[in-house]
Amino acid sequence: MCLVEIKPPPNQRALMLDVVEWDAKAGEYRPMQKPKLQPACQMPAVENQEVLSESSKHVLEARAHVQEFLLLNHPVDCPICDQAGECKLQDYWLEHQTTAKRMRDEPIHKPKAVVFGPTIVYDAERCVMCTRCIRFMDEVAQDPVLDMRERGNLNEITVAPGRELDGHYTFMTEHVCPVGALTTKDFRFKARVWFLKSAKSVCQGCATGCNSYVDFDPRYNKVQRYRPRDNEAVNKYWMCDEGMLSYRAAHEGRVLDARVGTKKTSVDTAVVEAKKRLSDVPSSSIAIVFSAQHSLEDNWAMRELAKQLGATSLYVSGAASGYADKILIDADKNSNTAGVLELVPNPKSFAQLLDDVRGGRVSHVVALGGLSPKNDPEDATALGMLGTLVVIAAHEGALTEAAHILLPATSWVEASGTYVNRQGFHQVADKALEPQGASRPAWEHARLIGRALGLEVSWTKLKDIRNSLTGGAPQAVTPHDTHDANDATTSVST
Ligand code: SF4
Ligand code: SF4
Repeated sequence: MCLVEIKPPPNQRALMLDVVEWDAKAGEYRPMQKPKLQPACQMPAVENQEVLSESSKHVLEARAHVQEFLLLNHPVDCPICDQAGECKLQDYWLEHQTTAKRMRDEPIHKPKAVVFGPTIVYDAERCVMCTRCIRFMDEVAQDPVLDMRERGNLNEITVAPGRELDGHYTFMTEHVCPVGALTTKDFRFKARVWFLKSAKSVCQGCATGCNSYVDFDPRYNKVQRYRPRDNEAVNKYWMCDEGMLSYRAAHEGRVLDARVGTKKTSVDTAVVEAKKRLSDVPSSSIAIVFSAQHSLEDNWAMRELAKQLGATSLYVSGAASGYADKILIDADKNSNTAGVLELVPNPKSFAQLLDDVRGGRVSHVVALGGLSPKNDPEDATALGMLGTLVVIAAHEGALTEAAHILLPATSWVEASGTYVNRQGFHQVADKALEPQGASRPAWEHARLIGRALGLEVSWTKLKDIRNSLTGGAPQAVTPHDTHDANDATTSVST
């Protein structure tokens, strides 16, 4: 598909091919000559050379013929293929061929629905043998588990004997596959891509903060998948498997209603209850817990609340550390640890909070985020000793379980928020879904609590917070915030 016609400099001879061409008038073939096309990427450029890529009829014909060959044995199962709507074969057929299939023979049949491993399924008939999946596993994932077997039209991709396609980057083989040969078990037969909208997002799986697209179905307010969003400075073009599946947190384990004790209630009632429990408590007994899983804006509102309350016992919570590698994955499983540290340079740890509760130094806590580093029964006992625990959270966890008052916060896909990754880049995750249940941004809950307690609350909108954070300057973003090729087809502004 990359053949071009090259007209050499005047003192050199063009490479020509002897061919025969059908002369319809004379009713016979005639000997002819035509330029020998060359693969563009293989030819060094020289002065006065002319390269024809679009204006040569020979090039256009060659592309159409190559495209026809590519589709010779390709099953026409676009109506049931997951890649339909974002398939390069469909795009190239429209761009370079647009003729109906001429071959009337039975196409070559090859294995279908081959399970390559826990996440990926392979359809050899759809494969165009571009070897991108092989090269990805070898060069990026550093695990050469895929290879090619047989020759010609019997070629197929195979997994190394005794192995399966597993590890931390298997989803990326599907991402690089230009056709529907590799599909993920997670997304297979789940949605037609033309019904999905996309929002720019940031993976919440770890401190790397890989840039992503959230693909969601606006008809059901439901996220269907993540796709990597190119950013040379952060994640290049990739995401890890754990991250690719972490879109599920948009719907799983969510806090969707306000609660007082174990009873569901309205946000207003919960705020009134919080006011009752926090009024007249000495500020030295109140602690504020920040969340490394919530946005910079949410944490900023908590810091303002702490200032107004006069609370100086400041802690940070979040998910426990985990697996790390040298490719993308960070051991810190929180998306905004660096953001919290920007706002509160030396917060105490969650373990210290539990110690302070046990020691009676802290009796009232307003916490952002439901997760704690470990779900230890002893932690629950310590949290149970608190006089008041008000939690604003998007996800259930040890803190929400122990909460006396729980306020439902929007997750990263339901409200625009800034997350600071391990490199210190401020990255914005756009709003994709409408807030689910009774959830609203955590900074709004912090404002409601502040107002109820009669404190001076300076923010009513997200814009107010961002102005305070940046002093009115535009929100800082990563240096290479780019769009990938799929952007134009599926992206919407939200
Ligand atoms: S990336 Fe897809 S089309 Fe290319 S060789 Fe692998 S399975 Fe085949
Ligand atoms: S490396 Fe971290 S941020 Fe990137 S996709 Fe994986 S979990 Fe998400």
